[in-house]
Amino acid sequence: MVFKKLFGRKKKITALEGPPVKLGARGAATSMDDKANLVAARQSPHFVTLKEWLEDIFKKRADQVVLEYTAGGIAVRYQVDGLWHAMPARERESGDVVLAVMKKLCNLDPKERRAKQQGFFAAKYLQLAFTIHLTSEGTKQGERVVLRIEGNESKIESLEDLGMREKLQEQLKELLNQKSGLFVYSALPGGGLSTTMQATLRATDRYLRDFVALVDKTKEPLPYVENIEIVEYDPAGDDLAELFRSVMLKEPDVLVIPHISNAAFFNQALEQTIAEGKLLITSVRAKDAVEALLRLLALKLNAEQVSQALRGVICQRLVRKLCLSCRRPYKPNPQLLQKLGLPPDKIQHFFRAFNPKTDLGEDGKPLPPCEVCGGLAYRERTAVFELLVPGEGTRRALIQQPRLELLKKVARQEGHRGLLEEGLFHVVRGTTSLDELKRALQA
Ligand SMILES: [Zn+2]
Repeated sequence: MVFKKLFGRKKKITALEGPPVKLGARGAATSMDDKANLVAARQSPHFVTLKEWLEDIFKKRADQVVLEYTAGGIAVRYQVDGLWHAMPARERESGDVVLAVMKKLCNLDPKERRAKQQGFFAAKYLQLAFTIHLTSEGTKQGERVVLRIEGNESKIESLEDLGMREKLQEQLKELLNQKSGLFVYSALPGGGLSTTMQATLRATDRYLRDFVALVDKTKEPLPYVENIEIVEYDPAGDDLAELFRSVMLKEPDVLVIPHISNAAFFNQALEQTIAEGKLLITSVRAKDAVEALLRLLALKLNAEQVSQALRGVICQRLVRKLCLSCRRPYKPNPQLLQKLGLPPDKIQHFFRAFNPKTDLGEDGKPLPPCEVCGGLAYRERTAVFELLVPGEGTRRALIQQPRLELLKKVARQEGHRGLLEEGLFHVVRGTTSLDELKRALQA
């Protein structure tokens, strides 16, 4: 029987060997059944191999792993800090057994290699708890397995954690503590917008003013922030005008409408917040702060009202941080510095990512992979922020000539620093590399 072959006892107590990864079976009807699955999994000669696979995944901090089983072997890819990396391929013989063990831990059928199966199991590594969600499905070439690893995310709570420089933090707090006007958040999808909203809203004076959020039920929920009252609505079913009247009766000082799902409704909210001197906070998906303004107009918001009410737009982009343990200093080319608007005499060096092909040991041989980043050269992410505070020129251009390049030019003339200039602060400090900044800004 296949099952016996997969789980037949070859060695004694294999479960106690290998890296310090503890596994737990999940998904069975009772905890007794989970225990029985774990006992069966531990009999496998490749239970330790699975622990080794998982240790590598945890060490490299992958949050998704794709295993492509084909006749020739198993192609392996990790997603780390938002980027996919090809890993060395693994061989089928042990890989098949490892997959069977994982399926057993998920209470799935180890013999089923065609039909789609989904489940999860638990793991502990160096005091950290993980949940591994497994999806498997047959493909033309074999089988595709996706692992989603929960527990590898880093915790971000404050603006400092997000990597916002102090001066920008102060400016932002001042803008959000204004009595009235419009404030806009923007980022690309998956760019950490809700984390920034959460961290900045936490930094506002929510205990002195009444915040009410009007949240579209069908969209991403507003991240939790204490002391913000949340009113949910259904954009298709609810009478939005009526809902808005009832919210305004609460006399909020600050209105948060995270999604602009209905222009007429938002324009009404904007008009009233201007008339009654309230602060309105919203968000829009955009590449940069200037583009965010054009997106608002594209959503059919009233350009004059936006121009009149606008206090500021914050935009952000995530960049990977260089691994502090293996980054390498180098002297940047003075012409390049000049081009970037940085004083060549003040910059001693930049840092770049470790390159295993050219950064060799003293003996001319390749160095072993860095222990801290697992040889990826980067570890975790930080955000680059730009804060656009419109001057008279930007406000006028927004009404008269709302074009991207022109608006950017006017904003720059009014002293606005874009994402590239803000990102260079991280490069100068050695937090990230110029290559990574360029990659992130092109995305
Ligand atoms: Zn490293």
